Amino acid sequence: MTEGDADDDSLAAAVGAVDGHTTRAFSLLGDDTRLAILLALWEEYDPHADDNAVPFSVLFERVDYDNPGNFSYHLEQLAGQFIRQRGERGGYELRVPGLKLVQAVIAGAGVQDVVYEPTEISKDCPLCGASTTIHYEEGLLFHSCSDCEGPTPDRTSVDGFLHAVKFQPAGLADRTAEEIRAASIITSLRTAQSMFDGVCPTCSGAVESWLECCPDHEETGVCGNCGSEFAAWARFRCRVCKDHTNHSPKELALFHPAVVSFYDDHDVSTRFHASDYESLKRGFELLHAHEMALVSTDPPQVAVTAALEDDEVRLTFDESVRVVDVVRRS
Ligand SMILES: [Zn+2]
Ligand SMILES: [Zn+2]
Ligand SMILES: [Zn+2]
Repeated sequence: MTEGDADDDSLAAAVGAVDGHTTRAFSLLGDDTRLAILLALWEEYDPHADDNAVPFSVLFERVDYDNPGNFSYHLEQLAGQFIRQRGERGGYELRVPGLKLVQAVIAGAGVQDVVYEPTEISKDCPLCGASTTIHYEEGLLFHSCSDCEGPTPDRTSVDGFLHAVKFQPAGLADRTAEEIRAASIITSLRTAQSMFDGVCPTCSGAVESWLECCPDHEETGVCGNCGSEFAAWARFRCRVCKDHTNHSPKELALFHPAVVSFYDDHDVSTRFHASDYESLKRGFELLHAHEMALVSTDPPQVAVTAALEDDEVRLTFDESVRVVDVVRRS
């Protein structure tokens, strides 16, 4: 058995049910020269150009390899899945999977452990009114209180933990702390909406969703039984890449057309933008003002009501987080 076979075997064993395509991609990329080829093609890549083919001689020089025969072998290995040969000069260019791979690295995954030190933002702690900060580590943007221990101190090692959002390190560049916070909220909203619509925002895969209710919820403050201020949570999980999120049905209601038009009738905008921090504050106020009530615990169902003046709209979510009933009363 050669060393390459052993690597293939352990890869296949590690990933179990994942298809051969995936194990092949991993083993293909376990080589400096092949990664260098992808990066060199990306550096030459101009998204608006008609022809992005890089001639063999140029590529060979860029990667600074010493043996043309071996270099051709590496190109052949990448061809089909990550790169293709095209253009009149028979050069090479990235295919979309190759481009996405380089973009994932550029966006920050795996390049370095990006850290953003705690920085104060103009939002008071909803629990104690003290000032709050944001900081970034391990791919998450944290929002924490500077004084109290937050609602769930026994579930986290982050002091004053209030909230965390998955965020790409590239989002930290060229933004103030407030703008970073705003961008992270937009990211969270987009993730919620995509999951709610049944498409994984990370890989476009199919999403499974279910509603989880606290059967014995304490309504004031943080519940001692479930450790949350909300009695029900919508859980989402991608069937393909296992990306997952939790969102309150109070938040999901903001995406429903009956709720959007309800607010529009009252001249309240549900249009949010990263450069408009006020619009995001308004969004928070709206979703926190939504009333949520358990309709049933088995199967779990909740109703979320938005009310303004003497007008209201109520959505009922079933156990798979589908809206099964809409009632508007005025
Ligand atoms: Zn606090
Ligand atoms: Zn509870
Ligand atoms: Zn996915």
